[in-house]
Amino acid sequence: MTPKERADALKNGKSVDRIPIRMIYGPPSGRLMGDVSSSGTLRDDVDCIKKVYEVFGMDSIGTAYGLYGVGNAYRAVLENDLEHPLKNIADVAKLDLSVLSVEKDPGAKKCFEVAQVLSEELKDEITCEMCLPGAFTGVLSLVGLENLLRALIRNPDAVHEAMGFVTAGLIQLARSFLEMEIPVSIADPVASGSVVSKQHFDEFIAPYSTKFIDECNRIRPFGVSGHICGDTSKILESIAGCGYSNVDIDNTVDLAYAKNKIGGIVNISGNVNPAGSLLFGTPSEVERDVRECFRKAWDSPKGFTINTGCDTARDTPLENSLAFMKEARKCASFPVNPEYFMEGK
Ligand SMILES: [Zn+2]
Repeated sequence: MTPKERADALKNGKSVDRIPIRMIYGPPSGRLMGDVSSSGTLRDDVDCIKKVYEVFGMDSIGTAYGLYGVGNAYRAVLENDLEHPLKNIADVAKLDLSVLSVEKDPGAKKCFEVAQVLSEELKDEITCEMCLPGAFTGVLSLVGLENLLRALIRNPDAVHEAMGFVTAGLIQLARSFLEMEIPVSIADPVASGSVVSKQHFDEFIAPYSTKFIDECNRIRPFGVSGHICGDTSKILESIAGCGYSNVDIDNTVDLAYAKNKIGGIVNISGNVNPAGSLLFGTPSEVERDVRECFRKAWDSPKGFTINTGCDTARDTPLENSLAFMKEARKCASFPVNPEYFMEGK
């Protein structure tokens, strides 16, 4: 079955050959093309993503705005130097919101064109997704981590205003993709429990994620999957409460724990450590880790999708990523046979 046939069959309660497999494979993808960088031409970007799909055959591919996409959009306009366009978080909401659009931001325009070409050329096989940063990561790209974290304590009103502004911009961007039948996902690495407390997540991040997801689902009800890096153990329920259709569990969180906490609310995916067996181990160690993920989460009530815990590192050996897919295919064959991945197998 193609990923599209598989997804359609699952949606309609029909039989499938296997459950879907995700593998985040950004940094090493250029090597498959002889090191074409992501700043290449539109055709280079399209061919690179197609090559990743051709080599691995995972069930999700897509293009990404980049975690600094929001900041990049304004750096050009504001002519500021250094890493972040703004020093003061109170200035975020004074920016021109129309910049965050496919029409005005070259970064967004390129993603849109790549997604359009991919959707056209692979339309019978697989749906192309667009990954946007979460609003918190977007605000950070404008003002920097130190300014943002300080403002959480000293200037909460300005943080809310900035989050509202960036959320509106992200919805504006998402709308262009959704209206072209391209689903969007969110990567919000800075919204992690490794960076913010549960209290701050609930006050400053969750309401805006919820708003973004609700609005996306109103435009096209594709669902929005979410990726938050690092230790999210203490905020898992808050994340699930935002309304994501799927939540990636980073490898720093135990999958069994995540299943118990939120597996009854949302599909969870993960979490083979990209900086462990994938980068430094052998193919058989990768296979062992894939089986361990299935052992812990295969029976998660709202479903489990095998995935890397975070993005694949640039120097990851190709044979390890191929081993990930090979073992994932075996474990994900449908109906799932738990005896295959249980202890000692
Ligand atoms: Zn991550």
